[in-house]
Amino acid sequence: MTNIQSTVRVRIGPSPTGEAHIGIGYIALFNYVFAKKYGGKFILRIEDTDKKRFNKYSENSIINSLKWLGIVWDEGPDIGGRYGPYRQSERKEIYKTYIDKLFKFDKVYWCICTHERLKKLKEHQISLKQPSRYDGFCRKKSKKDILNNIIKGKEAVVRLKVPLSGCTIFQDMLRGSITISNSNIDDQILLKSDGFPTYHFANVVDDYLMQISHVLRGEEWISSTPKHVLLYEFLKISPPKFCHLPLLRNIDKTKVSKRENSVSITYYRQAGFYPDAMINFLGLISFSFKDGRDVFSIYDFIKEFSIKQISLGSPIFDIQKLLWLNNLYISKKLTNYQIVKYLQKQFFSYKYLYKIVPLVKGRLSKFEDFIKYYDFFFVGDISTNPIYYLIEDVGSKKSYQLIYLLLSSIGSLMDFSAKNIERHLKEFCIDNHISFKSLLMSIRMMITGKKISSPLFKTIEILGKERCLYRIKASLKILKSMQ
Ligand code: GLU
Repeated sequence: MTNIQSTVRVRIGPSPTGEAHIGIGYIALFNYVFAKKYGGKFILRIEDTDKKRFNKYSENSIINSLKWLGIVWDEGPDIGGRYGPYRQSERKEIYKTYIDKLFKFDKVYWCICTHERLKKLKEHQISLKQPSRYDGFCRKKSKKDILNNIIKGKEAVVRLKVPLSGCTIFQDMLRGSITISNSNIDDQILLKSDGFPTYHFANVVDDYLMQISHVLRGEEWISSTPKHVLLYEFLKISPPKFCHLPLLRNIDKTKVSKRENSVSITYYRQAGFYPDAMINFLGLISFSFKDGRDVFSIYDFIKEFSIKQISLGSPIFDIQKLLWLNNLYISKKLTNYQIVKYLQKQFFSYKYLYKIVPLVKGRLSKFEDFIKYYDFFFVGDISTNPIYYLIEDVGSKKSYQLIYLLLSSIGSLMDFSAKNIERHLKEFCIDNHISFKSLLMSIRMMITGKKISSPLFKTIEILGKERCLYRIKASLKILKSMQ
């Protein structure tokens, strides 16, 4: 690799929109390893400017998941640092200064187009099979006219004035030079009407102010980079180096998504994957050691790391490989002592058992009943006769459709408390004209595998969203095959 700067500062900028995705772990690992390799700093920045998609539980999930993986940051929202605050929602005023600069340099403009106009424009472009992008309507209008409208209370956004000709060029550390014609770059919104910056703008300002030297992020951001490069140029500041890492794919080469695999780190922790095996797996996804080894610790990874060893082919999310690695760590790498400690910590912790015991003690004639009746609190996969997944009196096709709906409706629940789950399921039944009792029986079977379980809503709360979603998803697959 050419010229790694002496002061390496890298970051990840996850948006807190849900459970920490496995992709966050993957990108975080490569940033962390890169920073450690070159004696630099790794920063965690929470990119929470999209208020519509914000989920207040997500930041915790990200922090806990990364900590579980053993990835630690030098600066971040929980520990602070010289360049804070590290939550973009707390940096609103900072972005305003940079918008003012862009106005001064005549590189942005106000846009007062209504949602209706933009929607029509998009539909028109789609009908002509043209890429959908802003047509510069407000860019061509007189500034005075636009400002008068804003004074009168019209909603306005600020857009980037992308040059009408020429191209934007940037270097990617893995791909070399990338050139894009400016005519293909949209006049990106930088400041929304609620006063919050968009990802593109906040990301550039923060990478600059936090003195980020290298941006290592997923390749899905390549198409955004030209906008960022223009922003650096317009603000007269120098950009970091860019390195877009290959995206995780399913075996069929589609992007790893919730539908195919469980993609939340929490799921893998709860299912009993060991963090070192997970790290090994994430590293292996796009990195190959010169000597071809595929079992390595994070320390080996740091020692041998080089950008050149990252392969650009689409890395596959191969769960069989992960299982193989996990078994290898458990059987060969961990001592008996470490295994016992890990089981105690992750599966049989005081805190976890203490939540379960009050719910189940009434049914325990002997302590062994605890294992016999309540195994579903500890295992990943549960099995039972799938006939019980069907919702009574609605038939298999309708059951499948309803459970499909239920999956996404539970997935969108932010507050996963027993009370809220109960309320939500009741509403679901009313909306879909089904009996609450029948739905509960089917959910109980999918989640516990038993006709009699501990109180269901509390059980769901204790098991947590990821495990419940995983079990419903697995049941749904079976229901599909029963059609
Ligand atoms: N907020 C973006 C995300 O959610 C960050 C992308 C970047 O690293 O620039 O992944």
